[in-house]
Amino acid sequence: MDSSSELQAENQALRQQLESLLREARSNEDKMRRFEQLEHRLIGARSMADLLRLLLNEYRQSFGIDCVTLALLDRDQETSGLLDAERPRDDQAERAQLDGLTLLHSLKPIESLFQDLTHPSLGPFNEGLHRPLFGTPSPALASVALLPLSRHGELIGSLHFGSTDPSRYERAAGTQLLQRLAAIVSVCLDNALNHERLKRAGLSDMLTGVHNRRYFEHRSQIEVSQARRYQHDLACLFLDLDHFKTVNDSFGHAAGDAVLQKIAHIIQAQLRAGDTVARFGGEEFVVLLPQAPAQHARDIAERIRLSISAEPLTLPGGEVVPISVSIGLAMLGLSHLSGDSPSLAQGLVNDADRALYRAKATGRNRVTCSAASDKLGETLGPQKNAH
Ligand code: GH3
Ligand code: MG
Ligand code: MG
Repeated sequence: MDSSSELQAENQALRQQLESLLREARSNEDKMRRFEQLEHRLIGARSMADLLRLLLNEYRQSFGIDCVTLALLDRDQETSGLLDAERPRDDQAERAQLDGLTLLHSLKPIESLFQDLTHPSLGPFNEGLHRPLFGTPSPALASVALLPLSRHGELIGSLHFGSTDPSRYERAAGTQLLQRLAAIVSVCLDNALNHERLKRAGLSDMLTGVHNRRYFEHRSQIEVSQARRYQHDLACLFLDLDHFKTVNDSFGHAAGDAVLQKIAHIIQAQLRAGDTVARFGGEEFVVLLPQAPAQHARDIAERIRLSISAEPLTLPGGEVVPISVSIGLAMLGLSHLSGDSPSLAQGLVNDADRALYRAKATGRNRVTCSAASDKLGETLGPQKNAH
């Protein structure tokens, strides 16, 4: 080969090298752009569920990753509670979108994956080590990237990417982008949790931990719409402690507070997951029982009443505080429904309140059904007033 053709060959090789570098730069630029777009969306996610959907679905799609899963520490079941509350009860589609999420009671399954909290771990797929992270229906994975998620120096979870391409996540590859992603996801998760906590605090009663009246008003409208739409029963109980002023006067305000906490606890213990209990104000609680026929609702009310009177509060000094409640019960009459859901919900609560008034007037410590909830029979309860 003469020197000119040597030069030509060298020139061509350089040109090819340059083209390949340019291609790589363009692809990196494109990746960076998509990454930044995702970053913005992660930061803008409005709820925990939205954030998780973004991570588990959209990230996977937009970066063509074969499998994405996420493990999050949820020691006191706060996250699972949030997700349950956010999802409509029977929504399978919503549930499916969170496939790939595992909530952990302890860090044991993930803590040995990482040498430190800042560096992702990349390398070939290892059946024994990685299968538990990806689950069984995942494709035949060849390489993985595992990202530690941490807040305030503590591991809080891990994000896992799996690829069928063995060269996608090579041990020696740069991890700057993944490191940045892990940091952003960690902050976003923490943020979402705090946001949900705040939201929840505004809708709960500080003393008893059950929902407050504001939440109840919102929820009762939803339940009324659902009951109308699916022609389901909806029962409402209005509970009021009997002679509660006397409890405060005789045993002190702190004892009164303890009674309220205990009552909230007893009511909750008698309800199903889809039922709602709220402190309506002072010593009054309201309960919504969706899909509960009148007779069933009456049985629940009676069970609550009996459990409360069977469990007086014992003070640290040994004094026993007798407690009883009166309960008014009303049913949403499905046969002659007209009007909008807010006014029907209001009407339902008013009916229950009126029934409660009759329970008080006829001796307390009893369940009384609203006249509109017809054919329920009259009053349930002891003949003798508890106080
Ligand atoms: P009735 O059987 O007719 O319902 O009598 P009552 O004494 O329960 O009713 P009343 O409405 O006269 O009194 C309600 C009492 O509830 C008065 C109020 O001090 C007390 N109360 C309201 N909120 C709280 C609270 O958060 N803590 C305590 N300890 N007491 C409360
Ligand atoms: Mg009252
Ligand atoms: Mg009272």
